[in-house]
Amino acid sequence: THFGYKTVKTDDKETMVASVFHSVAKQYDVMNDLMSFGVHRLWKRFTIDASGVRPGNSILDLAGGTGDLTAKFSKLTGPQGKVILADINSSMLNVGRDKLRDLGIVGNVDYVQANAEALPFDDNSFDIVTIAFGLRNVTDKDKALRSIYRVLKPGGRLLVLEFSKPEHDLLNKAYDFYSFNILPKMGELVAKDGESYQYLAESIRMHPDQETLKSMMDEAGFEQTTYHNLTGGIVALHKGYKF
Ligand code: SAM
Repeated sequence: THFGYKTVKTDDKETMVASVFHSVAKQYDVMNDLMSFGVHRLWKRFTIDASGVRPGNSILDLAGGTGDLTAKFSKLTGPQGKVILADINSSMLNVGRDKLRDLGIVGNVDYVQANAEALPFDDNSFDIVTIAFGLRNVTDKDKALRSIYRVLKPGGRLLVLEFSKPEHDLLNKAYDFYSFNILPKMGELVAKDGESYQYLAESIRMHPDQETLKSMMDEAGFEQTTYHNLTGGIVALHKGYKF
């Protein structure tokens, strides 16, 4: 049946994403630095600056993985604030929690295993929701965007940091070559897991471009939606408000 077909397809992606992140969790941070030449740190810094975080804010770092954004938000929102690191994957969540505890980041951080498509939080709970390099792994992105919208407070904003479409053709070609030829080999060599990094390249290629993602956010109800290209559009930061 049509329904049967759809279910199988959905399960496939979810199962694939789960096995990728269970498999890469322990090496995730090292691979991130290696594959992006450390530049992911700048993209994340830019996201924090664009979030307008203030002391006392309550923040959801969705698909937060090993907690890079959570660590920064925890310092900026301070003891009156609260950061929830939510991720669907228990391995990523465990690596994140251990790392942050080792860094002494405790007190205002909670860890929740959750699917972005069905967030287990009350309406109007957060000043800021971030999802960094997470949305492309979500099966039903529209459902996730609506779920995020629901849990934001009026005046709250969503920041989506994600791979996007390079602005220039030459960069696009070089980047494609890098993603499909170099990246899986690096994954094989360093993490002994070429397949996961092949998935990564494919998921990047499939992800909606800047304008498409902006329309999806508008459709979910977000207002004043804008985006900012980083590193020539290899990555884009989308921002939208709930009023
Ligand atoms: N945000 C972190 C960062 O920027 O380093 C981690 C990004 S990692 C590439 C993607 C994360 O998305 C993984 O930890 C994965 O488990 C999580 N994820 C995938 N599908 C998800 C879903 N439906 N709901 C919540 N998290 C999900």
